[in-house]
Amino acid sequence: MKTETLLVVSLSLSADVLGLHVGDVSFCSDVVRRKEWGALHPKSKINTRPVSNVILHHSLGPTCITEPTCRSIVRTTQLQHIKIKGWDDIGYNFLVSENGQVFEGRGWGVEAAAVMGLTDRAVHIAIIGSFNHRTPADAAMVAVSRLIQCGMGLGKVHEDYKISAHRDVEPTACPGHKLYALIRGWNRYVKTP
Ligand SMILES: [Zn+2]
Repeated sequence: MKTETLLVVSLSLSADVLGLHVGDVSFCSDVVRRKEWGALHPKSKINTRPVSNVILHHSLGPTCITEPTCRSIVRTTQLQHIKIKGWDDIGYNFLVSENGQVFEGRGWGVEAAAVMGLTDRAVHIAIIGSFNHRTPADAAMVAVSRLIQCGMGLGKVHEDYKISAHRDVEPTACPGHKLYALIRGWNRYVKTP
């Protein structure tokens, strides 16, 4: 009986965790802000209007399940994006870890790195890890869902938003084969945002 219950919960999360929700600013307090993870200042930033698209990525690096390790990965990611890729800041608007924590990247209302695609009308969320061979833990997907609810509550994400993957808008394997297969099963998914 217990196993069955767990299975149902797991299936519902995988199938449609991002399909049914409304704005809820109470989830905004869950976000680990830039100053909390030790972000460098952005070199510049471009503001955007509220968006109708959510684009999902994987970070294509190690995963993390403890806050100190996740903060370290987020700091390292920002350094790589600024020093190696030459971007103005960490590329993503937000990053989500498999223990369900959300880290503020560029944040709401700011264009993501240009190579992410659709930067003037999408919020870009990366799940920390590599998802070619496995799907992210459900906690990460719940955190993505709550983050979007936060964005809707703040008026930064339109209620009729759609979800796509990075590979739908740019030539890349991101967000990994397994995560891509998962995203494509969601009600909010569109291949051509
Ligand atoms: Zn990507």
